[in-house]
Amino acid sequence: MRIGHGYDVHRLVPERKLILGGVEIPFEKGLLGHSDADVLTHALMDALLGAAGLGDIGRHFPDTDPAYAGADSLKLLAHVMELLAQKGYRLGNADCTVIAQRPKLAPYLPAMVENLARVCGVEAEQINLKATTEEKLGFTGEGSGICAHAVCLLLP
Ligand code: MG
Repeated sequence: MRIGHGYDVHRLVPERKLILGGVEIPFEKGLLGHSDADVLTHALMDALLGAAGLGDIGRHFPDTDPAYAGADSLKLLAHVMELLAQKGYRLGNADCTVIAQRPKLAPYLPAMVENLARVCGVEAEQINLKATTEEKLGFTGEGSGICAHAVCLLLP
């Protein structure tokens, strides 16, 4: 078994879509980034790559590469799963936390889990997703960004 951890942050700005776990969430701001800036999917990808000893998403999908401009992060996740399969690993389970003051994410969690589980080729119960605030503290609390943590276990 191999364990991995991922963490990512993106800035919240006007006139961008808010996409988390491949779900577009109605909100007055969205996450800024070279790709679709899906901070949750990025944290999960980093956990998966980390567990497999494959570095991080910056190495596989550089933000200087125009190929990834506006990229659908679920497609990048699918590529990560291929890399894992090539090394003989499959996902045992992942546990992820999204930290955002607003909007309320609870209604969207099941759709995010469904997307991530589908792309990872696992059952929904193998992907646990949580959302929390940081009690109005720090950059998430003031609404200037959203961050996500993920840990995962890979099985042979
Ligand atoms: Mg990112």
